[in-house]
Amino acid sequence: MIEKVLVANRGEIAVRVMRTCRELGIGTVAVYSEADKEALFVKYADSAHPIGPAPASQSYLAIEKILAVAKATGSQGVHPGYGFLAENPDFAAACEDAEIEFIGPSAQVLALMGDKAAARREMVRAEVPIVPGTTECVASAEEATAAAADIGYPVIVKPSGGGGGIGMTIVENERDLARALDTSQAIATTAFGLGGVYIERYLPHPRHIEFQILADAHGNVVHLGERECSIQRRHQKLIEESPSPALDEETRARMGEVAVKAARSVGYRGAGTVEFLWSEGHFYFLEVNARVQVEHPVTEMVTGVDIVAEQLRVASGLALSLAQNDVCLRGSAIECRINAEDPLNGFVPTPGRITGHHPPGGTGIRVDSGVYSSYTIPPYYDPLIAKLIVWGRDRDEAIARMKRALYEYVITGVKSSIPFHQAVMENPRFVEGELGTHFLEREPTLWDEMRRIAGSGESLGSRLPRRTHEAARIAAMAAVTAMLHEDERDRITGESTTLT
Ligand code: ADP
Repeated sequence: MIEKVLVANRGEIAVRVMRTCRELGIGTVAVYSEADKEALFVKYADSAHPIGPAPASQSYLAIEKILAVAKATGSQGVHPGYGFLAENPDFAAACEDAEIEFIGPSAQVLALMGDKAAARREMVRAEVPIVPGTTECVASAEEATAAAADIGYPVIVKPSGGGGGIGMTIVENERDLARALDTSQAIATTAFGLGGVYIERYLPHPRHIEFQILADAHGNVVHLGERECSIQRRHQKLIEESPSPALDEETRARMGEVAVKAARSVGYRGAGTVEFLWSEGHFYFLEVNARVQVEHPVTEMVTGVDIVAEQLRVASGLALSLAQNDVCLRGSAIECRINAEDPLNGFVPTPGRITGHHPPGGTGIRVDSGVYSSYTIPPYYDPLIAKLIVWGRDRDEAIARMKRALYEYVITGVKSSIPFHQAVMENPRFVEGELGTHFLEREPTLWDEMRRIAGSGESLGSRLPRRTHEAARIAAMAAVTAMLHEDERDRITGESTTLT
């Protein structure tokens, strides 16, 4: 087994990876930007090394700097987490050149999966059903018009080298196509350095259902069942669960086999996700995410498998610790992404100092977080405070437990998306499992419900003594008093002071 791992990431996922390393007796190395000096993952690691200023381009994306630390610390493997360099083929290749194990698929597979149009061609070859559309990037407005007429409106124009929902444009009719093409290409060029776009049929209100797969270098590929991630805002996931309320055993087995086939066809290695859209009883391949995903804990809760531990085994050249027959989905798990955002104010980010953090506990609760009381969330990165994951013997129990956990969760100092999650857990359609990617737009009463919940004071936090607030208030008063005294003294003595 690898003995020392550098984690080329930050926040909760860096802590998550290091937790498994600690259990397995693997040494951990953190790299961090100037903005993350006080972050939990920096404190957690066996050793931590500064790599540059806050902008990711000068720190978390700086391949040379990260590899220099890996070499200097004798790290045998690099875990990229998700985002940043996780799916960057150049980084995987640079690790290989430096004889350091990149904990993920090969550079070649990353390059293939990162080119979504190429991945679609590969899936057609492997007889995996894809969302109807082009399998090449469209070269001109004429070509796009002809393709869209074939596919049938509405269509969606998507950057081939993209991610995070960036640059995707929905087009209702031919008149709007040329402009949408220009917009998507321009955004794709700016955001990803690649202007290529392809066109797909836009499915009206699909469910997002994805399969977790694991593959080793010995020819073993298994799937760990599915996650449903249909509760989204602007194509970004907010709540995920496993299993999906939409699938029965037979469909799960069928889709799981297709996901395994997709992974096998490209020689996949490590942990990955095969994403599908589910619409009117049919499923269509969307893309492969070649990394550990934000929502992986729901799968861990229902299968009992530590996905990061399997990644580390595979990177060490070992076989997976389980075969398909060993995989059994037990109960139901739900994850809420608790963001530093104000859901009642258009989800604007609310970075700042967390004056108090009291995560929930008890049966069936897991909190993956990179924060602590008195930590300041920097404004430079994504606003995730914590992932709150619950497990129950069935979905109803999981929902009841999530409501209880949200009641217990105390975060003071910054606004969070907790009221949003509380409103969803109360929503009759959510409770019935009637999900779709347009859930938020179709549930306008969610916002009233959120306001009601936020105003009701129905939370454990409102019942606890406000010591942290008090301490902060007293400190602020003391500072102001001191300033006034200084002013007064200056007035009397005629000296001037500079406040710093
Ligand atoms: P990205 O990699 O940029 O996140 P994806 O292809 O994974 O993009 O799609 C993200 C989300 O966008 C999906 O979960 C779904 O909500 C929506 N979406 C993407 N393609 C389609 C489509 N063809 N029809 C309907 N919705 C889509």
